[in-house]
Amino acid sequence: MRIYDLATAEQDFIAEVAARSHQDVRTCYQCGNCTAGCPYTFVYDYSVSQIMRLIQLGQQETVLRSKSIWLCGSCQSCTTRCPNRIDVAKIMDVCRHMARERGYATEREVKLFADSFLRSVERHGRAFELGLMVDYVLHSGKVFTDLDLAPTALARRKLPFQPHPIVGRDQVERIFQRFRQGGAHA
Ligand code: SF4
Ligand code: SF4
Repeated sequence: MRIYDLATAEQDFIAEVAARSHQDVRTCYQCGNCTAGCPYTFVYDYSVSQIMRLIQLGQQETVLRSKSIWLCGSCQSCTTRCPNRIDVAKIMDVCRHMARERGYATEREVKLFADSFLRSVERHGRAFELGLMVDYVLHSGKVFTDLDLAPTALARRKLPFQPHPIVGRDQVERIFQRFRQGGAHA
């Protein structure tokens, strides 16, 4: 299918992904190298090369409502394997942001965990694991998530009761403020 055969909404979606990722999605020729190296294909509803094809076809709803964009671990394997030098991981990232902006969170727990992580970094300048866990439990209601790991983590001093003070915490906070001023979405 040629791009000018697509409806305006489909073309707009392709253009938005391209503009926000600074990648030319048209150059993907479906070799499958990205999917072959993706460690999370086994839990995706659409493999990463299928996501690329869906974007080329302007299938906004299917892409933005997919589980795959939330389950992507941002490992960059797809990006390093692409023979056309497409930053595929960046495209997955952009799609996840676009899904957020439209109020889609197909994998709710993943979104809630990411939110808790970001709140922790904003508050302390880096992740404070214990606080992050409490925040996630409060927002998700998943009281017993990974609770069995707590005794081992505590015994190995992997879960400090106080956040570590870091230099430049206020600078980290300002990054979040600048992001919000730029038009962030919940
Ligand atoms: S960045 Fe995401 S899509 Fe790409 S290989 Fe890693 S997990 Fe898969
Ligand atoms: S590796 Fe690159 S060209 Fe090949 S399918 Fe993935 S995105 Fe397309």
